[in-house]
Order: sequence, then structure tokens, then C-alpha cells
Amino acid sequence: MTQPLWGIDLGGTKIEGVIVPSLDNPQPILRTRIDTEGYKGYEHIIGQIDNLVQQMKKQSGMQPTRIGLGTPGVLDPILQTMKNCNSTALNGQPLKKDLEEKLGIPCVLANDANCFALAETHWGVVKEKAPNAQVVFGIIMGTGVGGGIVINGHVWNGKHGIAGEWGHNFLDESGGSCYCGQTGCVETVLSGPGLQRYYKSITGSMLSLKDILAHALQGNDPAAIKTIDRLNHFFGKAVSVITNLLDPDVIVVGGGVGNIDSIYTAGMESLHKFIFNNRVDVQILKPSLGDSAGVFGAAALVA
Ligand SMILES: [Zn+2]
Repeated sequence: MTQPLWGIDLGGTKIEGVIVPSLDNPQPILRTRIDTEGYKGYEHIIGQIDNLVQQMKKQSGMQPTRIGLGTPGVLDPILQTMKNCNSTALNGQPLKKDLEEKLGIPCVLANDANCFALAETHWGVVKEKAPNAQVVFGIIMGTGVGGGIVINGHVWNGKHGIAGEWGHNFLDESGGSCYCGQTGCVETVLSGPGLQRYYKSITGSMLSLKDILAHALQGNDPAAIKTIDRLNHFFGKAVSVITNLLDPDVIVVGGGVGNIDSIYTAGMESLHKFIFNNRVDVQILKPSLGDSAGVFGAAALVA
């Protein structure tokens, strides 16, 4: 008999937990959340995860044998410490070791983009529209740009634990400098803040992404139209690199920028222009799980 799957999504403001019966049945047995209170520091975050797990045990009457954990950033496979986390209290910390000591069971960690890709593969849009896909690339284009690779149903982490991190590939100098130390990263061009910065560079005013999109759709703001055209152009160019290198069966695009419809039409045309092939067969899909993907993907880590 298969063990129920326990997953926890460690977010900047909330820690969410779920228990699902199995890969074949994702109807949650229990789903609950607690505040992260990350400003109180690393030890407090560990304590909050423990509190959540104790609460889940009590409410479900079950005991986990292992737990999947979705994290911002990633566990360095060699150093076994966290890196690239925007919740900076985690960086440099041996999160897996500390959690396993606290909880007394093995923990499987993966970054949130990997969890997103995994959840959409097993339970989301990939399962629905491309059930035979072997290689899935999950993109998150929001405040930042990240990605995760799922091969034959499993996360592919890579030697440095950074497989799929296309957000810091070079895309175009016009993106300007990036917090990572490079210039022109994909993230500087395709993230929400990147689009806002570009719009501001033309007009001098800072608009929300939502407003830029609304202006572009209304058709009376040339700067907004230019911003979205540029997004479509560079989306195709950036995704052509993924396609040439990994040639996935499916690409799932999450995050706020992933909601912009034109990337699935004009962005695809741009991809056609840039890939090393005479046609585009890769399916580029909108995710179907919404905010749930993180915690469900964490549960799928222990399947
Ligand atoms: Zn960068």
C-alpha cells in the first residue's frame, strides 16, 4: 500500500502543508497553513515548519515517513546549504539537515519552480493536455524568472542544483544590471519589474504590469504596446534557447507575466523565428493549478 504524500511549501509570508493520498489521487486529506514570520530569523522558520507538521499530525491522525519541501532558492547538492533564496534568512543554512533533525524523518527539498513543474506534470495542465510528455519545462515569470525541469515524472536537479535556472541566462543588454552580478539576464527583460522598468524608460512613469497590459490592449498608449511587443519578441528568443538545448515536449508558463495572452500567439511566432527548426511543435501551456502548484509539487517530491 502506498503511503500518503506530505508536502510543505515554504513561502515568504506563509508556510502551507498538504497531505494527499497518492500520485493517482491528489484529493487532499488535509490542507493547512501558518505564517512564516521570516523576519524573526532562521531558527524561527524551522520552528514554524515543525509547528505546522505537528498540527498536520494532530488534525489527520497520521504520521509522515518523509516530507517534501518546496523552498525559495535551492539546496546546494555539494555544500548542503541553501543558496539563491530571496528569503535571505535561509541562505547559507543547512536547512535539510536541520529539518530532518527537528522532524526526525527524511526531507526532500526542491525549489519552487521545480515543484511547480512537478505538480503541473502529475496533476495539472500537462496531465490534461499532454499526458505522454516525457520532458516538461516549467517556467515562472513573475517578480523574478525561474524554471524547473521534469523528466519522466521526476525533477532533474543537475550537478549544481540549478538545472532549469534560465532566468539568469544572458538575453539582452537592454535589461540592464541584475542583482546576480550579470547584465541583461532573462529576468531583467521578462520579469514583471523588468517590463515596468522598460515602460518607465520610455515614458518616465511607473505603472503596474496590469495597467501596462490594459493600456496595450486599449491600443492608445504606444509605449505600452511597445513594452508588450518587446516582451513577445524576447519571450520567443529566450524560449528558443531552452528549446534548442532541452527540446522539451511541453513548456508550462506560470507567474503574473505568464498570464499575458499574447505570449502564446505573438510570443510563439517569435519562437518560430529563433529556434533551429522549420516549425514549432512544442506545446506552450498555461498552468491549471494556480497557487496550489507549489504545495502539491512538494508532496509529489516524495512519491
Ligand atoms: Zn541575473
